[in-house]
Amino acid sequence: MQFPLKYVFLTHGHHDHTAALPTLLRAYPEIKVVIARNEYPFVVEGKKYRDCNGDTCIFQLFKGLAEESKVKVDKENVVVIESGEEENTIFGNVVKVVRTNGHTPGSLSFLHIPSNSLACGDALMNLAFLTSPSLSLPVTAFTVSVSGARRSIKQISELQDVNYVMPAHDLSFGGVPIEKVREFASRL
Ligand SMILES: [Zn+2]
Repeated sequence: MQFPLKYVFLTHGHHDHTAALPTLLRAYPEIKVVIARNEYPFVVEGKKYRDCNGDTCIFQLFKGLAEESKVKVDKENVVVIESGEEENTIFGNVVKVVRTNGHTPGSLSFLHIPSNSLACGDALMNLAFLTSPSLSLPVTAFTVSVSGARRSIKQISELQDVNYVMPAHDLSFGGVPIEKVREFASRL
């Protein structure tokens, strides 16, 4: 294979982000799943997000509905980014790790260096209801720390080496220009 698959970069452990991992790991047994230390309990050990204490009443009320991962990844298959080491971690000069916790305790974003594009998972939303997509914080009911999520969006907006941000549930095509993220962050 000309470009063997080496890593899967997992922003966080909600089921809609992990469900394909067993199939991928069966097809490519050597690949490693890159996760944050604070996400390890949820992805590897089966801890539930509903066992977290959130910083909003809405999370506390609705956390039983959170998209808990039904997938447990074997610890042999993960590469763990230690807390505080995120910004020092670069994979092959291609992918740089950015700490964006809040939505979940160990949410990470991943900067694709060649394209200056940041895959931010659910750290930022660009959902469409009736109208065209608009930026928002992640869904409060499934966000452990809304204050952390707000801080992470501000942090993303301050990154200098990003042209486009790719939210996980973005219904637009091609990502969100960083200028729009900066404008949104300035109103938070
Ligand atoms: Zn999520």
